[in-house]
Amino acid sequence: MIPIITLKKGKEASLYRKHPWVFSGAIASDCASLEDGQLVTVNSWNGKFLALGHFQHGSIAVRVISFSEVDLNQEFWNTRIAEMVQLRKKLGLLSATNSIFRICHGEGDELPGLVIDYYTGVAVIQCHSIGMIQHLDEITEALRLSLGEDLLAVYHKSAETLPKRHAITDGYLYGEVPTPHYAKEDGITYAIDWINGQKTGFFIDQRDNRTMVGKLSQGKKVLNAFCYSGGFSLQALKNNASVVYSLDSSQKAIALVEQNVQLNGMEDRHVSVAADAMEFMKELPEEFDIIILDPPAFAKHLDKKHKAVQGYKRLNAHALRQIKSGGILITFSCSQVIDKSLFNHTIISAAIESNRKVKILYQLHQPADHPIGAFHPEGEYLKGLVVYVE
Ligand code: SAH
Repeated sequence: MIPIITLKKGKEASLYRKHPWVFSGAIASDCASLEDGQLVTVNSWNGKFLALGHFQHGSIAVRVISFSEVDLNQEFWNTRIAEMVQLRKKLGLLSATNSIFRICHGEGDELPGLVIDYYTGVAVIQCHSIGMIQHLDEITEALRLSLGEDLLAVYHKSAETLPKRHAITDGYLYGEVPTPHYAKEDGITYAIDWINGQKTGFFIDQRDNRTMVGKLSQGKKVLNAFCYSGGFSLQALKNNASVVYSLDSSQKAIALVEQNVQLNGMEDRHVSVAADAMEFMKELPEEFDIIILDPPAFAKHLDKKHKAVQGYKRLNAHALRQIKSGGILITFSCSQVIDKSLFNHTIISAAIESNRKVKILYQLHQPADHPIGAFHPEGEYLKGLVVYVE
């Protein structure tokens, strides 16, 4: 029997709009006896079925998996995974020159709590809700069915994304492939290590933005700050930048970017720097034509929003003050609590503070394999600006 959670009167509206979260404050039932990850039915105050989802103690109490009364059997997962794989194939993401993409993007693919990334034959599953853990076998089987020969292994990596008290163990669910493993994005080869790397091994969400940076880089001096595995650097080098500096505070990231630069035979115009970006940006060693700033989320929660805005402003002001006249700043925020408009304002005020005249050339966002659910605007997390500095 699936337990029923009844909402307070009037709290059903967001579910009718197909928003995938139920906040704890909307619930009338006593949930104390429910366990994290349990599948629950959500009913309105007058007993009407609204949704089926995973319960978890916390502010988001239920993550909705379906708005109709379905059985979450193998057939359900086969259909959902096949649809997502088909969409990525339609987008041209599985080809001779590209074998890195996201198969499932949580709420954006109507499966809150589930992220699946793909690196030439290897699917890496990362769960962001306890509930998803119980479907790993079905998800693995569905991946095998929909990817066929294109699947060699499935690795599960959720120990770092789920609360420690659940003692999750990472590991292979199917096959095994040694790391580093090699995969391609826009014709560039990368070494990927899902076991020791950050997130699932690579920041796939910057694919389109890296291509855009490449197009601007011919003959330019480029600084790629917060570089991780160096995607922006490699695109700039491939497109004949005169010199590219890659900077990250993590020594492991610097080793990785150097490995990737070497893999693609581009060592001659590359400099790597292991340093704190905020410190390094205070006084740059050269005048750069292009500066890329892609820091980790400065604010993961609302209470950190103000401090995060100050952080973005300071960092960008350093870059704007020193960038060459006629230069281009490409700056990002992946903090969910900083929306597009606040980010724009922050960058504009950094420009005013550094006394530079700027124009916004492009507004950037996440790529198509990180879709934004029509009923979940919060899913738009990656914001970027391409700013021309006179
Ligand atoms: N631009 C990258 C992704 C960046 S992720 C890409 O395209 O793949 C953010 C990176 O910032 C991480 O590699 C992390 O090690 C680095 N980082 C975090 N704090 C930092 C700091 N204070 N100075 C420099 N790098 C930092």
